[in-house]
Amino acid sequence: MADGFRLGVTVPELDVDIEYDHVPITDQSFENALERAKNKERLSVADGIELITTGTEKPGIDPERKAQVIDIANQRRAEIVGDEVTFVANLNNNITTVCDAGCLFCNFSTPSCEYRNADNPAGYTRTPAESRELVDTALDRGISEVTVASGLHPSLALDGEHKEILRNTDELVRYEPPKSYPDDPGTYTEQIDAISFDGLHVHGITPEEATHASRGTDWEYVDVYRRLADAGLDSVPGTAAEILVDEVRDVICSNKVSADDWMHAMEAAATAGLEITATILYGHIENAAHRVLHLQKIRRLQERTGSIREFIPLSFVHHNTPLYEQGYLSEGATPAEDELMVAVSRLFLDNIDHIQASWVKHGDGRSLNLLTCGADDYMGTLLSEEITKRAGGDHGEYRTFKDYVDMITSIGRIPVERSTDYRTRRRIDPDDPPFGPTIGPRADGSPIL
Ligand code: SF4
Repeated sequence: MADGFRLGVTVPELDVDIEYDHVPITDQSFENALERAKNKERLSVADGIELITTGTEKPGIDPERKAQVIDIANQRRAEIVGDEVTFVANLNNNITTVCDAGCLFCNFSTPSCEYRNADNPAGYTRTPAESRELVDTALDRGISEVTVASGLHPSLALDGEHKEILRNTDELVRYEPPKSYPDDPGTYTEQIDAISFDGLHVHGITPEEATHASRGTDWEYVDVYRRLADAGLDSVPGTAAEILVDEVRDVICSNKVSADDWMHAMEAAATAGLEITATILYGHIENAAHRVLHLQKIRRLQERTGSIREFIPLSFVHHNTPLYEQGYLSEGATPAEDELMVAVSRLFLDNIDHIQASWVKHGDGRSLNLLTCGADDYMGTLLSEEITKRAGGDHGEYRTFKDYVDMITSIGRIPVERSTDYRTRRRIDPDDPPFGPTIGPRADGSPIL
């Protein structure tokens, strides 16, 4: 039985036996749903479930039906964004691996007690000065964007005022002064301020981090994001979304914000004037109904904000993660499920223009294939990508512009360097090498990436 048909989750060794309230059973038929997709009607959740499962009347994915769904999604992509495939020259700066949230899908984090006490801790923390140095070097290599996503280090506070509150609070909040650790991450605003220079676009601070940055206070998300924007934050990644259905979150990330709070935080970021993205982490213990309910939440968020510039399906990389090691699952999504996730994202999210394919999660061949299933963005050069690598992903740390040009032209599409907000775009002529970034503040077209 394909994972998308899962009705619950059972791990006898851990005494876990959960039946889901949301299951992939509908009163719609695959044929009707396909017809509605063809006619460009707004899809219901039942339509989405039928399409993403290629029909719920029997388990497993039907290859012919899958091809029909993908064909419509690929046509829709061509109508909406044409044949351009975009990518951005960027750097991932994960400030710290220290985190006690204990999400079962994560192998990025280092528990704080382990980090404090081990002679050679497996993780790391960057000070604001170290973050700045890293970004400065990457700027010389032509990046236009830095993405910041980090563990919830117990010393991290929003700013000086927040630190003072946390120091003096009697409430049980996860705060420890920096002197308890070998290195001081500073505050979120100090980190953002340190890397916001020369016109570089700073993309960071997920809803989970915004929650950490307001713990022990009654501050609204919108105030948190305004302070971060004042420090130099330009846009907010919609990661930490995982699956926006609480019966799944309660298992895989029980210490994280609820689905509703994630939505509130993202809406607040948009209200603070920041553009946002949205993601889904699929291919673990969720089923097809959860995937489509998640899409429905994202579509509603876009209706309310109009600020989501791209949707990023992230296929779960299971090796080395507690979910795999504790026996919740034995594998991630199949290639067919990946293709349908992208295709149904394109068809269901009729108010979001850009759908991303991830070479980090899927590797070259499979990610290129996803560009023919409805995706049009090919993420970024990523000078550093710790998260997937630490979870056992095999697909490298960065891409050169030449890689991008070769891969995108190999499927007959047009390579386009873009800014984070897609407003600045440059078509790259594959017959005019060398290829290098030109949009970043210090980029001059040199092929240094
Ligand atoms: S996913 Fe993020 S919040 Fe969860 S354990 Fe990993 S670093 Fe911490």
